[in-house]
Amino acid sequence: MEKISVAVRFRPSAGEDASGGRHWKVEDNRISLHRPLGTPISGVSFAFDRVFEQSCKNVTVYSVLTKSIIEAAVNGFNGTAFAYGQTSSGKTYTMNGSEDDPGIIQLAVNDVFSSIEEIKEREFLIRVSYMEIYNEEINDLLAVENQKLQIHESLDRGIFVAGLREEIVNSADQVSKLLTLGEANRHFGETNMNVRSSRSHTIFRMVIESSANDTLSCCDFPNADAIRVSVLNLVDLAGSERIAKTGADGVRLKEGKHINKSLMALGNVINKLSDSGKQRGHIPYRDSKLTRILQPALGGNAKTSIICTVAPEEIHIEETRGTLQFASRAK
Ligand code: ADP
Ligand code: MG
Repeated sequence: MEKISVAVRFRPSAGEDASGGRHWKVEDNRISLHRPLGTPISGVSFAFDRVFEQSCKNVTVYSVLTKSIIEAAVNGFNGTAFAYGQTSSGKTYTMNGSEDDPGIIQLAVNDVFSSIEEIKEREFLIRVSYMEIYNEEINDLLAVENQKLQIHESLDRGIFVAGLREEIVNSADQVSKLLTLGEANRHFGETNMNVRSSRSHTIFRMVIESSANDTLSCCDFPNADAIRVSVLNLVDLAGSERIAKTGADGVRLKEGKHINKSLMALGNVINKLSDSGKQRGHIPYRDSKLTRILQPALGGNAKTSIICTVAPEEIHIEETRGTLQFASRAK
């Protein structure tokens, strides 16, 4: 079983009082929370694989946390990278980036294409898909007509989302265009851009298939490694904030319940996976669509990383505590 890498990233402060009143301290990748000028929040000190301070760029996060997952995926191992955190903490920034700070998805796609270019002894086929899970319903972000898709399982395909569009791609540019299309669809029918996107999980997926070039094979018996298929998921999770704070009712409340349920299911699966040895027992992948879809690339030989994003403002301190708790339980 591969260890899950867990890191925390503080986004830059919004507004003027950027330097005023830091309520956290970082020492040796350990974070402790306290009230500015005041009492420490007792018992809140957590250790992580890495803590990224506010000035960090996406490329640093990528190099430290995600690059090895991409390399493994090119070599046939499944992998998943998550962004977890409350709304406005920087999940989408981390995954999708900005004009001058490309995000994890872009950097991963670039690396996939440059790596496969180098590997002359294999022939590659890359497919991408992009989906959203909203209120426990799976929608296709590359084809708006594909709504409420179902998860199926078969002997030859394993677990898959039936009817999801998969595009064969040959360049990073082509993927960028699909991402732009997906982003536009993600906000389809929205009045307030941030509303729905903060309440849905999105999964960008690359399936990397490769076969050994016949011309280079030397043996009489078939090569067991002739065909490799790996799945790479890059996941922007729904906001982890508790619903009570938003004074939710009706639709919002329903959304909140689904989010809580799937993030809790994810937390449970990850906790089980990080339990070592035989005590682990049953892993509850079936408790949510999110964990079910990710199952083949979560656990076993799959590589996993979680970047937990944190909003630095003091008003978010309780949510920050919740995020750090989630992050430390994942280790
Ligand atoms: P989330 O997806 O978690 O709701 P966003 O990624 O939308 O949060 O981030 C909220 C705001 O903060 C956005 O305006 C985003 O551009 C900005 N932001 C987040 N992280 C960073 C960062 N590391 N550097 C610069 N701006 C950031
Ligand atoms: Mg977002």
